[in-house]
Amino acid sequence: MSARILVVEDEERIRVFLQRGLGFEGYEVETAPDGKKALEMALNRPPDLVLLDIMLPEMSGIEVCRRLRENGQTELPILMLTAKEGIEDRVAGLDAGADDYLVKPFSFEELLARVRALLRRAQPSQPQVYRFADLELDTGTRRGRRGEIMFDLTAKEYELLELFMRHPRQVLTRDVIFDRVWNYDFGGESNIIEVYVRYLRQKTEAGKQPRLIHTVRGVGYVLREE
Ligand code: CA
Repeated sequence: MSARILVVEDEERIRVFLQRGLGFEGYEVETAPDGKKALEMALNRPPDLVLLDIMLPEMSGIEVCRRLRENGQTELPILMLTAKEGIEDRVAGLDAGADDYLVKPFSFEELLARVRALLRRAQPSQPQVYRFADLELDTGTRRGRRGEIMFDLTAKEYELLELFMRHPRQVLTRDVIFDRVWNYDFGGESNIIEVYVRYLRQKTEAGKQPRLIHTVRGVGYVLREE
């Protein structure tokens, strides 16, 4: 059964972005546009995790968090979303009982990593090893292996490779890759994806193995065997 996530965000663009992205990853997503509604929903039918913006109409995310904890939701994982400048907000959020926070703007892969970590902590399970052909990616050690050759990955290389491994044989457009690995409002003009795909190819083809990360001209990339 997939985990149920309550997304609390008043900014529609971000709310829809999160709803679509998390839905695409297989989570069941509910949304609330303000703090009051969020508190009501979370107490009526507690989700498995709450993504909680701090600056909200009706009731702030800090207050929602505090009231959830006061009303018996002591184990419910709460991930706060904070504005870049709000250092006091982060402290207040953690003081109010949030488990973790993420500073806007964030990359979707970073958000997913935090969500998975919090859900894992709530319901402990083993780190996962993704496999495709003779390529492996270990989510515990964050290292890869192609055949007998192990390789290390930088943070962004790891996020990009994990994205490919979670969606094998699926063409990932440049826009989707930007959204997931860099950031939802990152400009689409730079060649950063090409650069990182090149890094990953160097690592995954170090033993002269056949290419697995293929270019789909004019569209994006796909992990597949020839
Ligand atoms: Ca807000």
